[in-house]
Amino acid sequence: MANETATMMDVPLTIDLVVDRAERWMRGTEVVSRRPDKSITRTTYGAVAARARKLARALVHAGIGRGDRVATLMWNHSEHLECYFGIPLAGAATHTLNLRLHPDEIAYIANDAGDRYVIVDDCLLPLFDKVVAAGAKFERVIVVGAPGTHEPYERFLESAPASTALPKLAETDALAVCYTSGTTGKPKGVVYSHRSTILHSIVEVIPDSLGLSRADTLLPVVPMFHVNAWGLPYACALVGAKLVFPGPHLDAANLLELFQNEKVTVGAGVPTIWLGIREALDANPGKWQLQPGLRMIVGGSAAPEQMIRDFDRLGMTLIHAWGMTETSPVGTVSRVPPHLAGADEDTRYRLRAKQGTPTPLVDLCIRNDAGDVPADDKTTGELMVRGPWIAARYAGGHSPERWTADGWFRTGDVARIDEHGFIQLTDRVADQIKSGGEWISSQELENSLMGHPAVKEAAVVGVPHAKWSERPLAVVVLKPGATVTADELRDHLAPKFAKFWLPDAVVFVEAIPRTSAGKFKKTELRDTYRDHYS
Ligand code: AMP
Repeated sequence: MANETATMMDVPLTIDLVVDRAERWMRGTEVVSRRPDKSITRTTYGAVAARARKLARALVHAGIGRGDRVATLMWNHSEHLECYFGIPLAGAATHTLNLRLHPDEIAYIANDAGDRYVIVDDCLLPLFDKVVAAGAKFERVIVVGAPGTHEPYERFLESAPASTALPKLAETDALAVCYTSGTTGKPKGVVYSHRSTILHSIVEVIPDSLGLSRADTLLPVVPMFHVNAWGLPYACALVGAKLVFPGPHLDAANLLELFQNEKVTVGAGVPTIWLGIREALDANPGKWQLQPGLRMIVGGSAAPEQMIRDFDRLGMTLIHAWGMTETSPVGTVSRVPPHLAGADEDTRYRLRAKQGTPTPLVDLCIRNDAGDVPADDKTTGELMVRGPWIAARYAGGHSPERWTADGWFRTGDVARIDEHGFIQLTDRVADQIKSGGEWISSQELENSLMGHPAVKEAAVVGVPHAKWSERPLAVVVLKPGATVTADELRDHLAPKFAKFWLPDAVVFVEAIPRTSAGKFKKTELRDTYRDHYS
């Protein structure tokens, strides 16, 4: 016995485990899609898995193999799910192009990734033509829906003999490719492996993480082209949760109708989506009958504490998570730990509005020039992470300085940590405001401003200032019909922050510019208001 190696089966963690399981054990579970004309189509995991395998065979028959990239330019719907499974079953990686980017940027990203084929929604063909005009090179274009002059997806699915052999997959093979949103420099590619995706999915579903089960019906509002809809389609297939895809209809009324009609138990999306939903619910009390205990996973930018409180009032639970393209994406989740379950309401809300603690298998630290920061909920540093679904490098080896010599990924997020191990993000490194040599956290000011009853949204940026080098400026969108003055907003902030933190000016606007992932576009705000204090 001594020195004998482990006696367990060596089963590679590859996507066929998920597809085969969904097909065999969850075959009747529904996958629902809202179409561009607003009609609803229904299929099942059984049918999706069978069609994914046909897609894989067709791709192999057409010359796609291990290491190739096949792009998608699609909304959230069941064919996109088929691509999530079928492309990696063929040994290739699914590259989900972000349709909200400028066509030049999409073309750059597609060429940089070396995408060979692309599968496109018919309603996105006008955009696709611009992407091609911008220089994107694809060998083959396959269209879901009305194909125009291109190859129809349905015909492509039938194009390979059933005997076409699928490749044997290795767990370290590339499964999917996503690009960072590129707020600094060009977008960079992150390549997920079968293993990283499966481990991420398993941990994503556990109760202390996002907590998904076969009893759930999940509606990913987060697009499948944004970090693989946070990995949720894989996780849902793994446990057999029903999936409801909203297609291109992401406005509050359409989403709420789907929530009601499909008995959705979990939604997932960025805070903007939930702000819109809150507004619709408040404006139309009793209009939609939602599932009791509906949970909403929120991430991508900070969930303001007020939003978490408001949804509790409406009978829905917000679950706050943090992550990035480079982290697959889920890295931390905020769950009140049992020893604080009896704490007062304010403490519990404060914890839930933090980004939380790392999920199993993810490790984090926060470092500044003095080393690891103490758990004092005060000292800030850069958040660093490592784990089996954290990128070890960018495709092409770009920006190696994002990794430390001792193996941590530098997130570019500034954070602090409290005695319970809860991290709270205070800024992106690039968004920090330095006034008279002191740091001011834009995210904390924003969260507090969004706690004022008149404020719908607020972004705070640093603007050049002759004396202090930078001073904060708040850009605020009011709720419909609400009024408030800049002084009233400063009075609202005054009890919570040092005097020098208070924004010198508040600008009221109709809307705050956003990135393709729905985050505040602070680069644009800084540009717009750069002369405000001069
Ligand atoms: P992306 O790679 O586009 O998903 O962007 C990742 C970045 O979004 C992170 O580095 C954070 O700056 C931000 N982010 C994601 N989740 C949160 C959150 N829960 N709170 C605050 N910022 C977040």
